Amino acid sequence: MALEEKREKRPPVTPMMIEEEAALRNGSRGLPPGPWAEAAGPRPRTTERHIAVHKRLVLGFAVSILALLAVTMIAVLLSVRFEECGAAADGPPRAGGNGSLSGAARQPPGAGQPPGRPEEEVRGGEAAEEEEEEEEEEWQRRRELPPWARPRLPRHLRPLHYNLMLSAFMENFTFSGEVNVQLEVRNASRYIVLHAHRMHIEAVRVAEDKLAGGVRVARTFFYPQTQVFVVVLNRSLEVQRSYNLKIIYNALIENELLGFFRSSYVLHGERRFLGVTQFSPTHARKAFPCFDEPIYKATFKISIRHQATYLSLSNMPVETSVFEEDGWVTDHFSQTPLMSTYYLAWAVCNFTYRETVTKSGVVVRLYARPDAIRRGSGDYALNITRRLIEFYEDYFKVPYSLPKLDLLAVPKHPYAAMENWGLSVFVEQRILLDPSISSILYLLDVTMVIVHELCHQWFGDLVTPVWWEDVWLKEGFAHYFEFVGTDYLYPGWNMEKQRFLTDVLHEVMLLDGLASSHPVSQEVQQASDIDRVFDWIAYKKGAALIRMLASFMGHSVFQMGLQDYLTIHKYGNAARNDLWNTLSKALKRVGKSVNIQEVMDQWTLQMGYPVITISGNETTDNIIVISQERFVYDSDTKSKDPAHGDNSYLWQIPLTIAVGNTSHISSEAIIWVSNKSEHHRIPALEEANWLLGNINQTGYFRVNYDIRNWRLLINQLTRNHEVISVSNRAGLIDDAFNLARAGYLPQNIPLEIMRYLSEEKDFLPWHAASRALYPLDKLLDRTENYNIFNEYILRQVASMYLKLGWPTNNLNKSLVQASYQHEELRREVIMLACSFGNKHCHQQAATLISDWISSNRNRIPLNVRDIVYCTGVSLMDEDVWEFIWMKFHSTTAVSEKKILLEALTCSDDRNLLNRLLNLSLNSEVVLDQDAIDVIIHVARNPHGRDLAWKFFREKWKILNARYGEALFMNSKLVSGVTEFLNTEGELRELKNFIKSYEGGAAVSFSRAVETVEANVRWQRLYKEELFQWLRKSLTQ
Ligand SMILES: [Zn+2]
Repeated sequence: MALEEKREKRPPVTPMMIEEEAALRNGSRGLPPGPWAEAAGPRPRTTERHIAVHKRLVLGFAVSILALLAVTMIAVLLSVRFEECGAAADGPPRAGGNGSLSGAARQPPGAGQPPGRPEEEVRGGEAAEEEEEEEEEEWQRRRELPPWARPRLPRHLRPLHYNLMLSAFMENFTFSGEVNVQLEVRNASRYIVLHAHRMHIEAVRVAEDKLAGGVRVARTFFYPQTQVFVVVLNRSLEVQRSYNLKIIYNALIENELLGFFRSSYVLHGERRFLGVTQFSPTHARKAFPCFDEPIYKATFKISIRHQATYLSLSNMPVETSVFEEDGWVTDHFSQTPLMSTYYLAWAVCNFTYRETVTKSGVVVRLYARPDAIRRGSGDYALNITRRLIEFYEDYFKVPYSLPKLDLLAVPKHPYAAMENWGLSVFVEQRILLDPSISSILYLLDVTMVIVHELCHQWFGDLVTPVWWEDVWLKEGFAHYFEFVGTDYLYPGWNMEKQRFLTDVLHEVMLLDGLASSHPVSQEVQQASDIDRVFDWIAYKKGAALIRMLASFMGHSVFQMGLQDYLTIHKYGNAARNDLWNTLSKALKRVGKSVNIQEVMDQWTLQMGYPVITISGNETTDNIIVISQERFVYDSDTKSKDPAHGDNSYLWQIPLTIAVGNTSHISSEAIIWVSNKSEHHRIPALEEANWLLGNINQTGYFRVNYDIRNWRLLINQLTRNHEVISVSNRAGLIDDAFNLARAGYLPQNIPLEIMRYLSEEKDFLPWHAASRALYPLDKLLDRTENYNIFNEYILRQVASMYLKLGWPTNNLNKSLVQASYQHEELRREVIMLACSFGNKHCHQQAATLISDWISSNRNRIPLNVRDIVYCTGVSLMDEDVWEFIWMKFHSTTAVSEKKILLEALTCSDDRNLLNRLLNLSLNSEVVLDQDAIDVIIHVARNPHGRDLAWKFFREKWKILNARYGEALFMNSKLVSGVTEFLNTEGELRELKNFIKSYEGGAAVSFSRAVETVEANVRWQRLYKEELFQWLRKSLTQ
């Protein structure tokens, strides 16, 4: 799954979850031993225990007392809850009756209207109620939660195969289904508990061995708290026997972004509808009753009945189609291999397609709205998909597993894309590309999303994480391979070596440097928490850790290890330890011995990252001191919380180090740093030599030096920066800015480093500087001395801006390929020049816009259009805003639409900004997923920050209702609107707002508070220091 952006915090562990897990570990649930059973259980987090062992000893006594209290309280609570259930006339778990049941509140308007075959198998009445009461007493006596109330499915049943027959009624957006699940019994039980949510169940039948006849169903009920449906039988299902569970149901094709949902587009003035699914992570249960956890892999045979004016798609190709006389058709799809529910998929639409075939015979099709297919907007994606399948087959040495792969471009989707096996779904903006009007940046976005989803066909679909706590195992890999795969397509772009740093490493270290971060591997149980694990920590930190691992293992050994891992676990599930074991073995084969599990557990189970400080060479004995501590932006937050403030954080750090002088740098040596502080001897360390740590920034940590070494490095950059690698130049810039922001380094050091940029001809260091300057700019952009900072930056940019000039508008494809670095550098410098107010840059932008308006021909170079539009809107009068607004409505190219919309947020005119904010919630004007970007972009504009913040608070209820379930969107919005608030007043407003919405609000608010506190603290402690230095520097 590819995300836009989200930021979340670790979920709280409730006493009930602790009890559940402990009981499972003790085996008190009677789970038979076996590899599958073992994999299904939550994994004890050994290293966390190991790390905090001394604390645990001290706390041990207190914890056991607390545990005793908790258990007693739970027992009391449970007995209270059961009394309530028993007393309430229409409590949720009691729906016995006539087998006509609805999950949660929503019932389809025409419920029962599609083929509602009467199939009465369910007994109701007084007998059932008495039974129910007896059962409840029994669970109470056992001091256990009943199987339906546990956060995870009970493990006594396992689905082997699903037969799913669906009828889609697109005219009233309902569907009906019949699912037949073949079940294997691992422990005798009278209960069948499986996921089902927001559907209406018509009938339930259980048969033994298909032919052997029925097992009587005593009663059935929904238990909405855990989103399950429970079938209680008259007798126990027997171990090692196989049963068939049949459920007939119907539900809505919802007008939202999860489950089986609908969206629409306009073709020749006519609105057309399509139905498509998004099941990851926990929404398959909204489309059919199923065991909706990734460990329950099964085979699926799907049939879809629909009007013949539509076509249907699913993971597998259509085997046969049966046409009926009344204009309906049923497509029967081939059976899938073993797979999990979350990447099952189907769609009903009237799209058209183009296709291609890979060398190994995989048929690849791109489906989209007919006008886009005709224009050829899908051809780029189709072409690179074919090449990428060949790349991955060669890299992993495991062939693509299905006969076909369809890529589906839909107008509305909660994520950038979703990797459903054989039927991956993309939002149009991330797959359609019109080469005549797309920038390199847009092309890069499209490319990387496709590379990402294709990687998942192996990492995620073929080998699936055991449980969501290790979602980074699939997302980290897919994100890392975005860069490796793009390097395959565009070998000169050096994505993995360079762009990875600014787009991933620097980006996620900002987030992970907050005390409220969370480990990359995070425990989750409840369905409502699972969305939360899909955040930038899982994606970007996951990817950064994988890159560090690949780098200390050596890339070829790493690749061999991955091949083994995929081969061993294909069609199955794997956890992080399975990966560590396979990689350790691969290392051993080449004669190296590193305990990968021991090293990586520290990085995946601890939150945050270290800052290494290298100091020394004051004495002449070539000894340096290397120390590590956890990097945190706001040391006040750190000291408030004893768990964060103590010294218990330690990592085993693969520190690469090199010594340099004015013209030469030594080859790197690796030092494993595992203590708080260590002494190391560095040969040939002379007085004038500098030290450089984390060579090419392959490690996930920051490096600080004593001031003397910083001075030597600055000196080196100014005199001959090429002695230091491009990646390290970018790394020094990012480290320095962030070390200063967190108070580890004087404020002037990063600004002094920046000075060498006038000679820097590589894109990456400029990109790093531009990104690092951005938050600093936002901290200062509403202060009265802002112009001093502004002028300093303009001076650093001026000469390179002059040297590079503006692009012309004749970029063709071959040029894009050859000059990516150069064009990106020019774009970055123009962006800095225009946004900090370079007069020439402003004039140029205004001229280009005026030319467009007067000639009605857009001759603005593609790669800088967003900069020109934004600058034009901010400088020129309301007519320009109206012109861009008009163009936003009239353009059909998705890439152009997006940048036009964002340009509208650049205005200085508060009335226009307010108008735009209000329009953003109108779904007819702005797509749901784009509305968030409008609000966030207004918040980035210093003239609109307070407007966006006010709008956000006023509309929070509407926004939360709209995006609430798609948590990542909500948290992207929360952080986007709040991250640049930086006054005491705004901090108070934020805290008051959170207080008034306590309970229902997203957890990302605590991250927001920490960020704003750190901003306020920086203003208080360092702002004046920075301005003093700037004043002095400008007068020199
Ligand atoms: Zn993904």
